[in-house]
Amino acid sequence: MPRIGVLGDIHSNLPALEAVLESAGACDEWWCVGDVVGYGPYPNECVREVAALRARCVAGNHDLGSTGRLELDGFNVLARIACEWTAVALAPEGREFLQSLKLVEKAGEAVMLAHGSPRDPVWEYLTSEDCAARSFPLFEERICFIGHTHVPMIFSLVGDSIGTVEVYDGMRMELEPSGRYLINTGSVGQPRDGDKRACRCIFDTGADAVEFERIPYDIGKVQWRMAEEGLPKPLSDRLERGR
Ligand code: ZN
Repeated sequence: MPRIGVLGDIHSNLPALEAVLESAGACDEWWCVGDVVGYGPYPNECVREVAALRARCVAGNHDLGSTGRLELDGFNVLARIACEWTAVALAPEGREFLQSLKLVEKAGEAVMLAHGSPRDPVWEYLTSEDCAARSFPLFEERICFIGHTHVPMIFSLVGDSIGTVEVYDGMRMELEPSGRYLINTGSVGQPRDGDKRACRCIFDTGADAVEFERIPYDIGKVQWRMAEEGLPKPLSDRLERGR
């Protein structure tokens, strides 16, 4: 039965992306909830990988900000510096790929993809049940995969009641047949939940279950490259903290 890898917030971190892809084994399909680029030093390589996977992919705020589709005023200063660096570093085909991405996409029969939230795919951080309650009525699919917070998390709507499931390493959760879900995939390239390892999310559509696993990668290699490229040190330091 189809096994789908769902990537999120790769953020130009090629070693993290490669580690996730290698550990995932064979997937029938790949989806991506955006922010392929931004912050990290490997924008072209990451775009190439995502394109080679033929991933169904939506645009994140950094993908938009690095390709002239979004004003940089809304970004904090370090994110803006990284967007400006990325805009210069991107090869024409990488820029073209990112410019072609939509803000929301349907994936299969019953799934939608968005970066922030269905309510505001570009900027909203969907962090609470209140936010989830405002987004559930705004999409008709059963499941929406999201990213943006860099913290893996699941919000469920079963009957009238909204619930939160905290995601942990090695978790596998079977979904309720009648439930609807907002599933944050966590971040491949810049986790912010205190675990510095890349976050891998798999949707096993046969069993109707999602799986999360944390994958170690060579953080030092990325930090070295960031220093070489003159990217801001705090962005490099945070990879080590996972915050
Ligand atoms: Zn992001």
